[in-house]
Amino acid sequence: MHFSELPQQGDKETRHVLGLSGGKDSAALAIYLKDHYPAISERVEYFFSDTGAELKEAYEFLDRLETWLGKEIVRLSTGREFDHWLKVHNGMLPSARQRWCTRTMKIQPFERFVGDDPVITYVGIRADEQREGYISTKPSIKAVFPFIEDGIAKADVFRFLEETVGVPEYYKWRSRSGCYFCFFQRQDEWLGLKENHPELFERAKRYEMRKRERYDLDVAGTSLVGSGNYTWSSEGTLDELVVKAEKRRKELGVIASTADKNKRWQDLLLEQDEDDPEDQACLICSL
Ligand code: SF4
Repeated sequence: MHFSELPQQGDKETRHVLGLSGGKDSAALAIYLKDHYPAISERVEYFFSDTGAELKEAYEFLDRLETWLGKEIVRLSTGREFDHWLKVHNGMLPSARQRWCTRTMKIQPFERFVGDDPVITYVGIRADEQREGYISTKPSIKAVFPFIEDGIAKADVFRFLEETVGVPEYYKWRSRSGCYFCFFQRQDEWLGLKENHPELFERAKRYEMRKRERYDLDVAGTSLVGSGNYTWSSEGTLDELVVKAEKRRKELGVIASTADKNKRWQDLLLEQDEDDPEDQACLICSL
C-alpha cells in the first residue's frame, strides 16, 4: 500500500508525525508532503527533539520552515541541559558506542510525546541512499519512507529547499545537523566549527579537559578524579584533529566552499558524495 493511502485506512486516533532534525532531508520531506500530499500534511504533527546544543543556524532554519509550513513545529526537550545528563552518566562523554545522548535527549522525549497512541512516522531517507536508522522500537509506531516510495533523490531534495526555505547555511562546513559537539563530526567539520563558532569549539574543548567527580562513601562527599584527558574522538584531542584537518586542507582543499570559486556552495554540495555507509549517526539527529 502506498503511504498516501494510510490516512484513509488508519483510524482517526492514529497520529501522523514527522520529526525535523534541523537538517535538509527531513525539512525537504515536510515541504514535499505539503506540496504533493496536502491531506497528509494537514494531519501531520511536526516535532523537533531539542538537546539545547544545536547550532543557532539550525534553530533559525526551523523558524523559517515553520513559517513556510504555516504550522507549529513542536519543540520537545527533556527540560534539562546536556551537563545534567552528563553528570547522570557519571561524567562519561557520549560516543558512537555509548550513545546515551540520542537515547536520553532525543528518542525519549519523542516517545513521551507520542505516548501509547498508534503513530505513523514519516522518515526522510531518500531513494538514492542506503541507510537504516533507529526510529523507535515501540510497536505502536510504524515508520513510512515517502522519498523511497516516490523515488525522490538528493537533487530533488536540494531543489525543494532552494525553491522554498533555502539550504541550511551550516552545510557549507558541516555535513549534518545535530549538537555542536557531536562526536560523529569529521576532522574538517571540527575545523569548520572552530572557524564558524569559535566559542562553541572552546566549549567542546572544555569537556575534554574536565575531571570527573567521584563519590566517596567514607567521607560521604565527592572528589575530582581522572587525568582530564577524555576526548570526543578516538583519533585525538580536538586541537589535534584540527591541526590534521588544516594540514589536509592545505594539501587537498577538502572543504567544499573553498574548492572551486566559480561554483555556488549549494552546487558543490550536491556533487559531493556525502552518504558514507559507515555513517551511524542517528536519523533523529541528522536526517
Ligand atoms: S547529534 Fe550527536 S551528540 Fe547530539 S544527540 Fe545526536 S549523536 Fe548525540
